[in-house]
Amino acid sequence: MEQTNNIKPRKTLESIEPYSPGKPIWEVQKELGLERVIKLASNENPLGPSPKALEAIQNGLSELNRYPDADASMLKQAIADQYGVLPQQVIPTNGADELITLISEAFLEAGDEVIVPSPSFSEYDFGAHIMGATVVPVPFAEDFRYDVDALIAAVTEKTKLIYICTPNNPTGTYISKPDIEKLLNSVKGALVVFDAAYSHFADEAEYTSGIEFVQAGYPVLTLQTFSKIYGIAGIRVGYGIAPEFIIQAILKVKEPFNVNSLAQIAATAAIGDTEHVRSSQSVNKAGREQLYKIFDSLGLAYTKSMGNFVLAHIGPEGERIYKELMAKGVIVRYGKTWGLPEHIRVSVGTPEENAFFGEILTGLLAKQV
Ligand SMILES: *Cc1c(COP(=O)(O)O)cnc(C)c1O
Repeated sequence: MEQTNNIKPRKTLESIEPYSPGKPIWEVQKELGLERVIKLASNENPLGPSPKALEAIQNGLSELNRYPDADASMLKQAIADQYGVLPQQVIPTNGADELITLISEAFLEAGDEVIVPSPSFSEYDFGAHIMGATVVPVPFAEDFRYDVDALIAAVTEKTKLIYICTPNNPTGTYISKPDIEKLLNSVKGALVVFDAAYSHFADEAEYTSGIEFVQAGYPVLTLQTFSKIYGIAGIRVGYGIAPEFIIQAILKVKEPFNVNSLAQIAATAAIGDTEHVRSSQSVNKAGREQLYKIFDSLGLAYTKSMGNFVLAHIGPEGERIYKELMAKGVIVRYGKTWGLPEHIRVSVGTPEENAFFGEILTGLLAKQV
């Protein structure tokens, strides 16, 4: 018999919901015995990894007996060059997910408040909860537009962090530069974190990843990842850019070898792979249009997206359609985890994948009538 010996995890862990990732292709293949399975559920790059990153990884394999560079200095320099900041203003991490945890550990005391747009990326809640902080969700305005006045109104003297995911996952909407200025000028004493994981896909003039506010000296952090546009989600690299005093605080809670050596090499190569970045951008732009057309033809509402995914309103049959798509080999993300039970989020795939999704969805909706 198991003896528990009264060993109890911390009380705050009771408020943590496990992260629910998109189902992997192999699992759906195995469970359903399907040949063709496409995954449009995790906003991965449908073109695959940056070829330059792959080549660099191969060249780095023979050095795996060595510990990684604890400062990731080459990668830091490459990022600093790319954005016109100092290496001391950059922190590479084991995926951007790790950075969210580190920010939480560095800045949150129990009882502090964290402002989170709703619906958005679930890791912000996770970071708050592991520290015993309170999440203050701020709903979007109509059509999932950012409501900057509502964000400002939610600030109290307990607010320590404000997350602005832009373009926002799962809605694809973004916050405009004038709204950011308004927010930053009325918020004092809280760190504003711009999650710019999808910044490379945003093509509106009023969009910013927040980097210009870091450059202008505002006490803000902009977070980035190599998992989306660069196509190396599997090797886990993300980073933050912020004024040096913020980076110094985060470094205190970082483990020495958080970014493994292959990840450092791969990311350094990927950031210089402009060809891969450009083709990923153009495939994504065309793919978004292709998905819009599919939804238009089916009379389904959707939100125009600045990311590499589209949130579509399926209706009361949302869950059934999500499951039936899966049964036919198309993995998308069901909206229920964001409180959107009538929505699905579809990542932009290759033209063939988008078309396959369109065919299957059309078939499922035709069957309904
Ligand atoms: C994918 C994603 C990230 C980054 O993920 P990592 O793979 O951990 O780098 C961060 N924020 C949002 C909103 C994302 O969708």
